[in-house]
Amino acid sequence: MILRSLAPRGLRARILLMVGLTTTVLMMLMSWSMLYSWRGVLVRQEKANAQAVSRAFSVAVIDALIFADQDLYQSEGFLGNYVDLFMAQNPRLRTITIMDPAGSVVARSWNRKDPPWVTGTMKELLQVDRPLATITRTQEGPWVLETVMPMRTGERKWGVLVLAVEADSIRGQIQRNFILLASFSVAVTSVMLLLLWLMLSRLLRSMRALVTAMDTVDFTAPRKPDLPYRRDEIGTLYKHFHHMQQRVQQSRDDLMKAQHQVWHAERLAAIGRLASGLAHEINNPLNGIRNCIYAIRGDLDNRRQTAEYLEMMDEGLTHASSVIEKLLGFARKQQAGMGPVNINESVEAVQRLVAFNLERKEVTLEMDLEPELPLVSADRQLIQEVIMNLMLNAVDAVQEKGVIRVGTRALGDEVVLEVRDHGHGIEAGQIDQIFDPFFTTKEAGEGTGLGLSISLGIVQAHGGTLDVTSEPGVETTFTITLPAADL
Ligand code: ADP
Repeated sequence: MILRSLAPRGLRARILLMVGLTTTVLMMLMSWSMLYSWRGVLVRQEKANAQAVSRAFSVAVIDALIFADQDLYQSEGFLGNYVDLFMAQNPRLRTITIMDPAGSVVARSWNRKDPPWVTGTMKELLQVDRPLATITRTQEGPWVLETVMPMRTGERKWGVLVLAVEADSIRGQIQRNFILLASFSVAVTSVMLLLLWLMLSRLLRSMRALVTAMDTVDFTAPRKPDLPYRRDEIGTLYKHFHHMQQRVQQSRDDLMKAQHQVWHAERLAAIGRLASGLAHEINNPLNGIRNCIYAIRGDLDNRRQTAEYLEMMDEGLTHASSVIEKLLGFARKQQAGMGPVNINESVEAVQRLVAFNLERKEVTLEMDLEPELPLVSADRQLIQEVIMNLMLNAVDAVQEKGVIRVGTRALGDEVVLEVRDHGHGIEAGQIDQIFDPFFTTKEAGEGTGLGLSISLGIVQAHGGTLDVTSEPGVETTFTITLPAADL
């Protein structure tokens, strides 16, 4: 658990840690086994050398002992000189001891109280029947290579020759090689880690470039992502990302087309809803015109009356054609375009359109528009469509002679539009569904269930929000929040 919390989180650090640890352990094992076998070779060689020296010296000693045995001269003095001379010729020799078969020291290079040998007791040394070589540490501290050479000719035993050669230099050599191998391992591991770090950095740079390209990909102004050309797997990844971008772009274009078709269909449906109010508005002047025609026909010679009625007919026709003009203006598929929009003006434009529907139901519209409202950057046509949807829904929701309140205000760097009606409200169980496409509680032919879902899509596409609160039987408030334009 603790190890996991200590582990680095970055991919690069994790790979470096894993490879670093593995390489260090492998290099340590390799160095250790190399050092161990090399040390074995070195020690064997040193032992063989020491035994060769010991053997050569033992030949001379045996000669001297044979002479002494035949009483040709006194062995102690002669052997003592021999020992001194041999010590002088071999600076690495520490001690020489020559013992006769009874265990008495007949010649030695040392004059201390305790015997210097370390291989075993005197009794054990006398029982040695083949040459021995041991590396050990002396009580004083330094390391020595001690050889024990039994001296014999045929069945005759002449005693034992014990030589001690200093072995500190061997240990020093082993230590130096250990340091050399350790440094080599550290250098190899460091170079490997450095190379790995460079490769990983390159890989991560490429990945980061891809991530940036993904983050900044612009579907409105399609262009190839700004990624460097590469022939490796990363290059393939870049290529596939570009293909994916093209596919997403294609789907997005198709979706936009479908969305515009739905918007247009919804606009036509809205015209149907408006028409009930407008029909009344057109019918009135038409009835007036018909009455005028009857009156003119009844008194064809009355030029003054004819002129007066023609004037009234002209007024009626102008009114009817202005109503139709408004309707067509709304129905016309306009080129979508973003620009600075004053929400108050949009509310007033929609109010003129729905005025007939309000009048028909004798609904009072209270407007509370903030005069210094900041502009928003929007598609005027789409925003008007949203406001009209909300206002027509409010008209549908209220009773005859009901009240609808429309208000605008600035809130920080946002513009808020509220459409509140004192109508039947929305049931708690339905409030989550009203923005779903095709959800409607209206009679067939009266509602498409698309108005709110399209309105939400439009508001969100403008970077805004559309919220609703409702108290069934009391009131319903739809609130649009749009970011103020950065002019
Ligand atoms: P439609 O008006 O064609 O039914 P909408 O998506 O505009 O489609 O509205 C979906 C539903 O939301 C409506 O059928 C109605 O039940 C509910 N609704 C919308 N506005 C109001 C409102 N002001 N008061 C009460 N209910 C509303």
